Amino acid sequence: MDIPKAPKKSAAQVARAARLFKALQTRYPTAHCALNWSQPHELLIATILSAQSTDVGVNKATPALFAAFPTPRDFANASPAKIEPYVKTLNFWRNKAKAVHESMRIVCEQFHGEVPRDMKQLLTLRGVARKTANVVLGNAFDMQMGVVVDTHVGRLARRMGLSKHEDPVDVEADLMGLFPRADWCVLSHLLIAHGRDACKARGESCKSDLICREFCINAKVPTTRSTKAATSNKPVNLKLKKSKSLKPVAKQSRRP
Ligand code: SF4
Repeated sequence: MDIPKAPKKSAAQVARAARLFKALQTRYPTAHCALNWSQPHELLIATILSAQSTDVGVNKATPALFAAFPTPRDFANASPAKIEPYVKTLNFWRNKAKAVHESMRIVCEQFHGEVPRDMKQLLTLRGVARKTANVVLGNAFDMQMGVVVDTHVGRLARRMGLSKHEDPVDVEADLMGLFPRADWCVLSHLLIAHGRDACKARGESCKSDLICREFCINAKVPTTRSTKAATSNKPVNLKLKKSKSLKPVAKQSRRP
């Protein structure tokens, strides 16, 4: 799938995006992929399983799944029916079991048992669309080929004035035009962190959050000295709130 060319961004838009990035980084210094994994194929499977399910739910299911099927070949040799019991707690578990089996079969038959490091090849795997491919390339291989646009990223991008589009591919193109390539992977983690921490679907932190007040169209009120003092951009400890690991994803070590 080709990414449409992003409309050229002005220097002011790029500078504003850089200010937002810095503010998010200050607030969420440990933002990282919330899925637990230790090998690229595990991240691929966890991401397939995360569609229409929470990362927390996926992380509860995957330890037993990965223990039962340690390698891509083990998944490929199993039938979907053998995989199903391990993912039954997740939405669409039957389809997901099929997608996991089929994707690992293709990995084994066409890619020598290795998850491909290529967007086009990843998109040939069942259950893998551009978002999943970006998650794998960015987090497992540190390859910045695009920006992961999930519901949080899409919502925040529109509310923060980064994109006017609804289609995730168009939102991705706008983000790619606004932020340096080296930041694309962590950008999605930062937006997801803010989406989860401050900006629920109804925008509960509107007008009381310093980042929101400066950047979001829903909270556009004049920032006075007194309101600045009333809010803060203190770092949020995502470990306590969301995740077991504080390690940056790119440096995530393999589980024993
Ligand atoms: S101002 Fe409200 S809608 Fe905008 S990002 Fe913050 S919480 Fe979300």
